[in-house]
Amino acid sequence: MSAIDLAPYVEGVRSGSRLWIGRAITLVESTRADHREAAQELLVELLPHAGGARRIGISGVPGVGKSTFIGALGSQLTASGSKVAVLAVDPSSTRSGGSILGDKTRMDALATDDDAFIRPSPTAGTLGGVAKATRETMVVMEAAGYDVVIVETVGVGQSETAVAEMVDSFLFLTLARTGDSLQGIKRGILEIADVIAVNKADGPHTRDAQRAARELESALTMLRGERDPWQVPVLTCSAQERTGLDDVWAALVRHQEFLSSRDELAAKRARQQVDWTWQMVRERLLGYNWSEWTADGMLEVYAAYRDGVGSTVTDEVEKATGHPARSFADFLRDHAAAFRSI
Ligand code: GDP
Repeated sequence: MSAIDLAPYVEGVRSGSRLWIGRAITLVESTRADHREAAQELLVELLPHAGGARRIGISGVPGVGKSTFIGALGSQLTASGSKVAVLAVDPSSTRSGGSILGDKTRMDALATDDDAFIRPSPTAGTLGGVAKATRETMVVMEAAGYDVVIVETVGVGQSETAVAEMVDSFLFLTLARTGDSLQGIKRGILEIADVIAVNKADGPHTRDAQRAARELESALTMLRGERDPWQVPVLTCSAQERTGLDDVWAALVRHQEFLSSRDELAAKRARQQVDWTWQMVRERLLGYNWSEWTADGMLEVYAAYRDGVGSTVTDEVEKATGHPARSFADFLRDHAAAFRSI
């Protein structure tokens, strides 16, 4: 039991109170040991009420128009009755002190919208830490009744992969480039994108954007194959003029319906949940001051035991880690809930 009284948090979040949502997020972002413990308990309480949102990842290089796009799309969604949460994953914000979403001017309308909640990237340090806090914040937002969660990330490093691992559908925003429109686009992003939109398709750039979209579409067919059951739609839009946003949103909804129709939405989320739980358990093992190697060794032993490969947990743990098995057995008991969900 944590020393923090969690009842008002649970009640506050469930009733959609912005004050308590903010407090709950502060708790899940905290790295203090007692806060971590309280946050885990809170998440266990909130989890049964989570899962109801469309989870969308959005990425693109700085300047592509992410803030403008999210501001415009978010306002359209709240106008049609949705509650929209905008979260961000930007590990570089730790270093620079600022963060994407720090510049909220392009989201002014959304920032003051009662049905929207914008949260800049946590500055928890490593990408893993930032991603974890964001994932947990997502649980808070869903439990609070938000039915669209948008996770924004910058188009650098591994952050896109981390975001792809927590959302249902991934939107990649790009620009028409002169010449080869694939230049400068990382191959990896084309592999994880579920929908692509060429932004700034307005004024004199409209035709360039349309051409770039066609080029990208054929490049993608080559990359992912004609038989891929999900042919990634490549659309054009103008976040500034607010044109084409409906089509982009419709494509994202269609992607989720595609996943659902193949029973893949639940499976995808279940897979993400398992990965997340493993990460959590690993982090807790490290909290016991065991070395990384030992923590990984223990997880391996646990996996083998769970799959009926290992002989007895105790023997295996002692062999793999050199630690007395009793401490691992204690650990398992303490964290039985987390292990059960794996
Ligand atoms: P971010 O860095 O990806 O979040 O990009 P911003 O939303 O901050 O936009 C960068 C710049 O591009 C700003 O000056 C925007 O006004 C401009 N911009 C964004 N969307 C559009 C668009 O659809 N058309 C045009 N012409 N400019 C846009």
